[in-house]
Amino acid sequence: MSFSFQIEGAAGAARAGVFSTPHGNVETPAFMPVGTLATVKALDPDDLVQMGASMILGNAYHLHLRPGDEVVREMGGLHQFMRWNGPILTDSGGFQVFSLAQLRTVDEQGVEFQSHLDGSRRFFTPEIVMQIERNLGADVIMQFDHVIPGQSSEFAARDASERSIRWLARCLTELRRLEASQPLEDTPRERFQGDSPRNHQALFPIVQGGIHAHLRRAAADSIRAMYDWPGFGIGGLSVGEEKDAMFEMLEVVDEALPKTHPRYLMGVGFPEDLIEAIRRGVDLFDCVAPTRMGRNGAAFTRDGRLNIKRTEFRTDPKPLDPDCDCSACARFSRAYIRHLFVSDEILGLRLLSLHNVHFLLSLGRAARQAIMNGDLDSWSRDWLARYRTASPLTV
Ligand SMILES: [Zn+2]
Repeated sequence: MSFSFQIEGAAGAARAGVFSTPHGNVETPAFMPVGTLATVKALDPDDLVQMGASMILGNAYHLHLRPGDEVVREMGGLHQFMRWNGPILTDSGGFQVFSLAQLRTVDEQGVEFQSHLDGSRRFFTPEIVMQIERNLGADVIMQFDHVIPGQSSEFAARDASERSIRWLARCLTELRRLEASQPLEDTPRERFQGDSPRNHQALFPIVQGGIHAHLRRAAADSIRAMYDWPGFGIGGLSVGEEKDAMFEMLEVVDEALPKTHPRYLMGVGFPEDLIEAIRRGVDLFDCVAPTRMGRNGAAFTRDGRLNIKRTEFRTDPKPLDPDCDCSACARFSRAYIRHLFVSDEILGLRLLSLHNVHFLLSLGRAARQAIMNGDLDSWSRDWLARYRTASPLTV
C-alpha cells in the first residue's frame, strides 16, 4: 500500500491517526503549513523540520502560472525543487480559479479564465489540472472542483457539487492514465510501471454542498460509491458562513464519510476552529493565516491574539508567548520583535511567522495527546476558555 491510515486512539468523533505516504508518516490531527509558491513564506525547510511539520502544501494554480509546472518537473519535481523531503499535498487550484482569476467562464468541460498575474487566457479542465499536479509530483493531490461563494443558493450549491463529482470521475481516469505513462521524476524508471509506491499519488475528492446538509450527504454518498479513495477533502467551509453552520456541516460529513480514512478540512486553521473541527472528526488542516498574520504583526498566544506593534510592548522582556517553546520565544523578547517590526526589519516577520506556524503545529500535537490520554473534552474546554478570555493582549 502506498497510502494507509491507522487509527491509534479516539475520543468521540475525534481520532488520533497515522497517515502513511511514500515520503513519510503524518501523525494526525495535524496542521499543514502552506507553501503556496513552493515556499512557506519567510521560512526555510530546516525551520519546518525543526518545528515538527510533517506534511506541507503547494498550490497547482500558482505554480502553474509561476514558475510553470513543467519547470518544476524538469527540476525533479516539487520535493526536489524546494528541498522538502517530507509529504506534500497540492491543492488543485479550484479555489484560486474561482477567487483570484478574472473573467471566468465555466462549462461542463472546464473553466476558462485570465491569469491574475498577466491577464493571459488559460483553460483548466479536470484533465489539465491532473497533468499539472502530476508534473508537480506531490504525494496527495486534490481534485479539480467547482468552487462557489459561501452564501450561494441551494440551486447553485447543488449544481456546483454535482459538476465537481463529474469532474472527479474525469480526474481519476486521467490520473490512472498518467500513472501508467508518466513516471514521477524520482520514481526508479525500471519500476514505475510496476507498483513502485512512489509512482502513486493519492487523489483526494472534495465533498462540497455549501451549508445544505442533504447536499453534503448526497455528495459524500456519490463520491464513496465511485472509488475507494485514500482520503477525503471537505471544501467550501469557512468562507463567510456562520460558525455554527460550519460545525453542523462537519457533523453531517463526519457521519457520511468512512471513519477509516483521513479527512482534510480545506483552508481552516484558526486555533479555535481547529479544536472544534478535531472534535468533529477532522484530521488535517491548512491555512495561510499564521504566516499572513505574522507578516502583519499578529501572533497567536495561549491568551488570544497579540499585536506586537502596540506601544505597550516597547520594553516588554517576555517572549511572544511564555508557554511556547519555538525558537523565537526561546530567544527573543516582545520588545525586540516589536522593534524589528517598527523598523521594517525582515527578521521581525520571519520570527512571527515561525512562532505562528509552530503554534498551530503544537496545537495539533496537544490535541492528539489529549485524544490519546482520553481527556479531549476537558483539555479542549480549558484551552478554549483561556484563549477566549479577553485580556489586555487581545487584538
Ligand atoms: Zn513561540
